[in-house]
Amino acid sequence: MQKYEKLDKIGEGTYGTVFKAKNRDTHEIVALKRVRLDDDDEGVPSSALREICLLKELKHKNIVRLHDVLHSDKKLTIVFEHCDQDLKKYFDSLNGEIDPNVVKSFMFQLLRGLAFCHSKKVLHRDLKPQNLLINKNGELKLADFGLARAFGIPVKCYSAEVVTLWYRPPDVLFGAKLYSTSIDMWSAGCIFAELANAGRPLFPGADVDDQLKRIFKLLGTPTEETWPGIGALPEYKPFPLYQPTMPLSQVVPKLNSKGRDLLQRLLVCNPSLRISADDALSHVYFSDLSPALKTT
Ligand code: AMP
Repeated sequence: MQKYEKLDKIGEGTYGTVFKAKNRDTHEIVALKRVRLDDDDEGVPSSALREICLLKELKHKNIVRLHDVLHSDKKLTIVFEHCDQDLKKYFDSLNGEIDPNVVKSFMFQLLRGLAFCHSKKVLHRDLKPQNLLINKNGELKLADFGLARAFGIPVKCYSAEVVTLWYRPPDVLFGAKLYSTSIDMWSAGCIFAELANAGRPLFPGADVDDQLKRIFKLLGTPTEETWPGIGALPEYKPFPLYQPTMPLSQVVPKLNSKGRDLLQRLLVCNPSLRISADDALSHVYFSDLSPALKTT
């Protein structure tokens, strides 16, 4: 820890407090995340430590770099690349207006980060605007990748604050335990709609029931026909058979028809029919994205 000079506190996350810090040798600014464990006395589980160390190899321009893992005195501090702000704070600064090109650029970068991690068989499992970090030059990077696997999928924050359900897919809300890359694709869909609406969340549910009801009211209640096996999920319970009521053009009025088509392919209740990150990147919505962005 002597290597870093702690500066201001930046935020409170799912796993602990985040500080801005300076590397005393290189003067590089970093973000230090001190991970609190459920049972601090037990120390850091070796399985978690192994997982975290593997994440050091996850190097991509749209993933927040994990520089170092400091483990001493039963405490765990992870050293990350520092970013200017997160997407939630960015939304707060918008006043309800967002440039459609910014929506497209952020969405492309989000999908590119996801495609990379998914190709390495790493899932995020808890994507939300708070862990999408952005820099002044318009770069977007995904934070906390792989941490859910190391520490377990978050149920509550270390500060006992309840983790948001807003970005969780129906399969997970029904208790599915076999997670696949499709979990992150649903969250990406929710974030896409929120971006297009300049920060208004798509499904701001109050609890699991309310969350599912909001999803089914918009998309229609899935059935054994549209989603074989739904009834066998551990926490499945039947819901009224809502028909899709509102066209997406009313849900995301500022998004063009190509964008709405992509959104529709992300927000599919049956996880096996949800579009992959790779396929989403080739969607026609991105065909007019500036070539400079595609290659940087
Ligand atoms: P998290 O645990 O990732 O949810 O972090 C909580 C908050 O700390 C985030 O919402 C960010 O505002 C901030 N934060 C986390 N990681 C970084 C980072 N690498 N650079 C700058 N801010 C960060």
